[in-house]
Amino acid sequence: MRGTVLYAPGDVRVEDRPEPTIEQPTDAVLRLAATCVCGSDLWPYRGIEKIDGPSPMGHEYVGIVEEVGRDVSTIKPGQFVVGSFFASDNTCEICRAGYQTHCVNRQPGAATGGQAQRLRVPLADGTLVATPGMPDDDLIPSLLAASDVLGTGWFAAVAAQAGPGTTVAVVGDGAVGLLGVLAATQLGAERIIMMSRHEPRQRLALEFGATDIVTERGDEGVARIKDLSNGLGAHSVIEAVGTQESMMQAIRATRAGGHVGYVGVSHGVSLPGEELFFSGVHLHGGPAPVRRFLPDLIDRICHREIDPGKVFDLELPLEQAAEGYRAMDERRAIKTLLRP
Ligand SMILES: [Zn+2]
Repeated sequence: MRGTVLYAPGDVRVEDRPEPTIEQPTDAVLRLAATCVCGSDLWPYRGIEKIDGPSPMGHEYVGIVEEVGRDVSTIKPGQFVVGSFFASDNTCEICRAGYQTHCVNRQPGAATGGQAQRLRVPLADGTLVATPGMPDDDLIPSLLAASDVLGTGWFAAVAAQAGPGTTVAVVGDGAVGLLGVLAATQLGAERIIMMSRHEPRQRLALEFGATDIVTERGDEGVARIKDLSNGLGAHSVIEAVGTQESMMQAIRATRAGGHVGYVGVSHGVSLPGEELFFSGVHLHGGPAPVRRFLPDLIDRICHREIDPGKVFDLELPLEQAAEGYRAMDERRAIKTLLRP
């Protein structure tokens, strides 16, 4: 089968890879309907995150179950399924508390090699969620978004306690930040401020329910958010970048007693203890437990209440994955969908 492999920064290739097979009795093998390039794939693509030799890429996927191991009981061949980037049993104490990305039996198996024609998913019963019947083709981008960026944006909004009466600010105008706007809207936030300088992303943020756009960054950006929130800062701030600058911007834009939901994969961030101590701000985040939200998100998508698939502004055949990476790296595309 064909799949993407990253050899070195900027060097991603589509090549023949071994067919996935059932290795454990709890595995499933999927034939993928769609996959995509993640903002987090750009960290190794840009050489900021080191890779240890040629690395199969991709961790966002939807598809049809082809085969299951003998211990898989709820997932069945022929079902259309959405999964998340860590495999989890969904039964341990940590999973039952809604933190499946920290499952005591978690496996990264579903986290690599998803940009391919087929994929082995460990712990299939815990990791995969089937859609009610075969979805219409036009719903596939939205279901694919649910497997990571929507679930991650949703977790960020929940971690930031976005809800009725709140002012929410979003740092980061990538797919996760944009879907954080959508999540905040769905959760009933009163005012949603998107920080973005990029016109097509501003437009999509407004479509997803943003009420204000702030183009300033750093201290000026923080000052603008305070202007828009009685001088206090936002109740809820979604951090969807993962740099020192974005994290500090998020903390400083949050009012005392408010919440930061951080989901940008942290790269070189170190927090000043004294400033944190006196900020009175709650911090919660990390790798999003997308699995917690999947049943609800699939339901909203299948009822056409939300259309998160709009974040895909470039669609290419899998064979042209390299161009999909380049377009995102150069910010010509928000997010690239790949058809295997
Ligand atoms: Zn678990």
